[in-house]
Amino acid sequence: MAKLTKLDDIVSLCKRRGFIFQSSEIYGGLASCYDYGPLGSELKRNVRNAWWKSVVQMRDDIVGLDCSIFMHPLVWKASGHADKFADIVTVCKKCNVRSRVDHLTDAPNKMAEGLAGKVCPSCGAVGQFTEPMPFRLMFETQMGANTDDAMTIFLRPETAQGIFVNFRNVLDSTRVKIPFGIAQIGKSFRNEVTTKAFIFRTREFEQAEIEFFCAPGTDEKWYEHWKDARFNWYINLGMKKENLRLRQHDKDELAHYAKGCVDVEYKFPFGSGDWQELEGIANRTDFDLRQHQRGMRTLNSWYEKKGDLSKIELNSESEDYQKGPLSYFDEEGKQRFIPYVIEPSAGIDRSCLAFLVDAYDEDEVNGEVRNVLRFHPALAPVKAAIFPLVKKDGMPEIATNLYNDLKKYFNCFYDEKSAVGRRYRRQDEAGTPYCITIDGQTKEDNTVTVRERDSMVQERINLSQVKSYLREKLDI
Ligand code: ATP
Repeated sequence: MAKLTKLDDIVSLCKRRGFIFQSSEIYGGLASCYDYGPLGSELKRNVRNAWWKSVVQMRDDIVGLDCSIFMHPLVWKASGHADKFADIVTVCKKCNVRSRVDHLTDAPNKMAEGLAGKVCPSCGAVGQFTEPMPFRLMFETQMGANTDDAMTIFLRPETAQGIFVNFRNVLDSTRVKIPFGIAQIGKSFRNEVTTKAFIFRTREFEQAEIEFFCAPGTDEKWYEHWKDARFNWYINLGMKKENLRLRQHDKDELAHYAKGCVDVEYKFPFGSGDWQELEGIANRTDFDLRQHQRGMRTLNSWYEKKGDLSKIELNSESEDYQKGPLSYFDEEGKQRFIPYVIEPSAGIDRSCLAFLVDAYDEDEVNGEVRNVLRFHPALAPVKAAIFPLVKKDGMPEIATNLYNDLKKYFNCFYDEKSAVGRRYRRQDEAGTPYCITIDGQTKEDNTVTVRERDSMVQERINLSQVKSYLREKLDI
């Protein structure tokens, strides 16, 4: 049988060991939607927590936020999503499948230019495409129980706008001073035209975003700061440097308001190895806050006229916008301005996939293949597994006591079934950094065996030292 690609190995391990399942699987599954199982939900929570710890807990200049997914429709008008958040798509005339124009690849021996020289990713037909047109990515739904007051609203396609519309609230309720940031983790929804590779691109996903507000003129410095900080976050969590890079966007890739944008890219094992975006870091200038000021003023005039909210157009920007309701007064410089924003925007699911891919390894032990997930301890779903060597001679009692003590501090797992070698393998495959075995010697001298996942080296330590040993090794 041909060797499977690495992604297939990971997908199958994820299902077999309860990391990730297809959504609604017993009903045949729902395309591009996934559920995180017992190990996966721990991994995902650890990724979220590691992000939150590094950007909120460890920094004095960032505060957190948790906004609702539904927001006022004008938010999306002001942000530009209502009019412009669309992919340019085309439909294959042969198989009727819709594709993103920017995802089409060239036909081999391409002679023709433009779409005429592109291949349909679904049926392979060359150049059989309709005229490109925009396809709106936001999901729509109705809010309100009565038909007269029901309103069309959108599921947010990014968490960032919740931060911008709370900028004033955060300023007024905390002691933050510019430069400062607001961070948020939450679900976002996009009706993606092409979903891709397991949890890489899905229609429901989780984002971790920071809007870092700074004085105009200091934005370049903060942009550089965030490029380094975010790149190093992945490295500090054990991601291999050779699989990670920063890619500067070309001028023609930039949104019209953005001054600069760089992607943190990971070399995913799709196809022959693809560099793909894990996170974008953009200098968004003062665009978003200015737009929301326009939105606020537009709504005020709408209340007077009472038109159709869904057809509303934004008022033009007032000339003294620098003094508007979303401006900031700098006490030291005695001036008022609309802050500039640096936005590091990461995907939690995409990070989980990259951490899984990066940690996955196969080695050979005693002539057998060992699957191992070499997770950084902070990300490992289970930190320590506790085994009695056999189910007799008082070993299970000692092991259970140890387990009950340790689980107060870390996520642990107790296992007394099957041969100890098999138990080790199961934990290697789950990425558990340490296994602790209580054996015959434990009763004699109060020592236990600690086995480390990557080196498989075993050492004996005193039972009373297990907790401090793990705390030091896990650094948590
Ligand atoms: P792409 O070009 O891959 O569609 P994007 O540039 O539109 O992504 P952003 O809007 O910058 O993505 O979103 C920030 C981050 O959110 C991405 O780097 C990614 O990690 C995550 N993300 C965006 N869309 C999806 C999706 N459909 N599924 C999973 N994660 C996503």
